[in-house]
Amino acid sequence: MREYYIAGNWKMNKTAAESREFAEQLADALEEASVKLMIAPPFTALESVSSIVQGTNIILGAQNMCHETSGAFTGEVSADMLLDLDVTAVILGHSERRTIYGETDELINQKVRLALTKGLEPVFCIGETLDEREAGRVEDVVRTQVTKGLAGVSEDQLKQVTIAYEPVWAIGTGKTATPDDANAVHAFVRSLIRELYSDAAAQAVQIQYGGSVKPDNVRELMAQEDIDGALVGGASLKLEDFKKIALFKK
Ligand code: PEP
Repeated sequence: MREYYIAGNWKMNKTAAESREFAEQLADALEEASVKLMIAPPFTALESVSSIVQGTNIILGAQNMCHETSGAFTGEVSADMLLDLDVTAVILGHSERRTIYGETDELINQKVRLALTKGLEPVFCIGETLDEREAGRVEDVVRTQVTKGLAGVSEDQLKQVTIAYEPVWAIGTGKTATPDDANAVHAFVRSLIRELYSDAAAQAVQIQYGGSVKPDNVRELMAQEDIDGALVGGASLKLEDFKKIALFKK
């Protein structure tokens, strides 16, 4: 039985003080949650949120990480800097990084492998654009992203990886993939993991859905056989909404 994993990506929202206050509220509100929980504040708030989530059921995530360990990479943040703040997980390959900042499958793969070497748990994001979906290319796109993004990742390392399937057209748009459509892609991703690794790896890998997950659609999405959690953007910034999502089993 795979555990559900609900993660909140705060994106470029909240100052350190606002993040601290919100994390305190979340820690209280989510005490009863029976799922794995992660929040990813902006870099500037990681230190303040880190001390709040210590000893709670919430793990700390970052939204990105540099593909190299140190040196002349102006504006970047290294894996060691994240570890220094007790960050456990890191979101890699988010569609906003791919489309706005031009991150390639190769660069994302370097980040995934470095994160794993350093002991960070990647939340590795994949997903097609609307054009790609309309052209009937979902499986091609996802196959390329998974194959290239996980190149060189061993079966043992894969145990630390969560895959987040986020159709780009559903992110921040209020459009959600129907539970059936989402599940079909999740099942395809699981079959790819079977092909690339093993049946045991495919059974074990957690695949989150992301794209306008809200309190009113979370149950139906989570009821799908191959959906093991959610990566939540907009709704993770609202206490009541994120609480309802994280407590969807109640
Ligand atoms: C995201 O940014 O990963 C995301 C899924 O955003 P939203 O929930 O706002 O669609």
